[in-house]
Amino acid sequence: MTAQTSTSRTASSARAAVEGISTGLYIDGAWVESASGERFDVVNPATEEVIATVANGNAEDAQRAIEAAGAAQKDWARTAPRERSEILRRAYDLIMARQEELALVMTSEMGKPLAEARGEVAYAAEFFRWFSEEAVRIGGDQTITGDGKNRIMVTKEPVGPCVLITPWNFPLAMGTRKIGPAIAAGCTMVFKPANLTPLSSLALVDILIEAGLPAGVLNVVTTKSASSVVTPWMESGIARKVSFTGSTGVGVRLLEQAAQHVMRSSMELGGNAPLIVFEDADLDRAVEGAFAAKMRNMGEACTAANRIFVQASVADAFAEKLAARLGALRVGDGAVEGTDVGPLVEEKALVKVGELVDDAVAQGARVVTGGSRPEGKGYFYSPTVLTNVSPTAQLMTEEIFGPVAPLIPFDTEDEVVAMANDTPWGLAGYLFTQDLDRAFRVGDALEVGMVGLNTGIVSNPAAPFGGIKASGLGREGGRVGIEEFLETKYMAMPRA
Ligand code: NAP
Repeated sequence: MTAQTSTSRTASSARAAVEGISTGLYIDGAWVESASGERFDVVNPATEEVIATVANGNAEDAQRAIEAAGAAQKDWARTAPRERSEILRRAYDLIMARQEELALVMTSEMGKPLAEARGEVAYAAEFFRWFSEEAVRIGGDQTITGDGKNRIMVTKEPVGPCVLITPWNFPLAMGTRKIGPAIAAGCTMVFKPANLTPLSSLALVDILIEAGLPAGVLNVVTTKSASSVVTPWMESGIARKVSFTGSTGVGVRLLEQAAQHVMRSSMELGGNAPLIVFEDADLDRAVEGAFAAKMRNMGEACTAANRIFVQASVADAFAEKLAARLGALRVGDGAVEGTDVGPLVEEKALVKVGELVDDAVAQGARVVTGGSRPEGKGYFYSPTVLTNVSPTAQLMTEEIFGPVAPLIPFDTEDEVVAMANDTPWGLAGYLFTQDLDRAFRVGDALEVGMVGLNTGIVSNPAAPFGGIKASGLGREGGRVGIEEFLETKYMAMPRA
């Protein structure tokens, strides 16, 4: 099998899409080169071509950035909520006006098909619209003490300068999900996007500048050496909060650093989502749900269905339908219209997915479709369905982060709930059933922060996104999203 190869037209349109994006560091309202003058390459994973170079920030740049955020905090906290709201609203409009070009930038640096990239641009923009509406609704409280003697007035204040760190898999939305509430709350920021996908974030900075964000409020340092930039921020004593999306290992390290200055911490970490199909489910709906939960972003999502449990009586029928659905997908350069599945983000990811499949097969799994990489350039892996997967297979305990669906049969509800919860992670879980009692019973029993009930998609700006156990702390989006960036203060005074 060969991947649908890129054409010279898409290669040149990828380069054209990224031309014009500022590729320096954005510190205190100015685009600058890094202190070292070094730059690093950004590669298109579909073609393995370098599409841009960006500034490689270091500790000196990091220090300047956090000092700028610290200096801007006081004035920024005092701006009118309506002013902050309107900056976000203008940025929303600008993102949507440039949806097509931003989608092409995203596809070029990260690989996802254009249709999905357009979807992510809209999803990312929606966080700005949502938080533009929240900015003017930051509430408080007023009460009288139980003994009737005192008045208590509760107010909300911005936490202060925030450290924001995002991964490569949703290059725009992971940024707006943090920047949106920080702006709404009145926090300044230092922001480090992933080195594999900095261009979407840098394009976003250009948009926020155009929308009127004042100097010093958002400072962005791209780097090939994450810890040399992030550690000075965490140790600065200036930052009051860290909001991180990425792997659990890095999250734990950041929590250790945050403890030194008792910083507020939001952690959106890894997952190992179970997806459960009961025999009373609408099977076609379950296949569509599993398809969405597995194949969104080529499986490179923290919410991706990592373990698909199917009740034994429908296991064969489900495997056949899912294999037909995945086997029919077109794999290729995401910039070519009609592509369903793009490349993985880098060669390391491709090698890891291959190793996980090989390990499962060595432990007795059967490949129903896929199971290999297409020939040619680009980090492609064929959509894969595995049956008869052993509980000891490595992919049962690790995030696959690729288009591989392992199916595990089960007999009883109690058995499947125990298997689903047998993981240190607890981000998302999915279940398919037409029995309402069972839906709530199993939904309650799953140890996760988010449950998809007869649906494979749980992400929405109006919903509180986040996990429990090793999947993290705090929530992003929804009514609670802005709370993560606010402190509570109260004033007490005797009643006259
Ligand atoms: P990662 O390796 O943890 O990287 C995430 C971010 O942390 C990147 O910006 C990375 O920089 C930075 N980083 C790496 N080492 C660091 C260090 N020592 N100190 C400070 N920052 C450091 O994760 P990833 O591979 O990019 O992303 C995949 C992971 O993110 C998966 O586990 C996935 O489940 C999780 N994720 C979670 C959510 C959620 O909302 N719960 C959403 C999406 C992804 P560089 O990349 O530039 O090195």
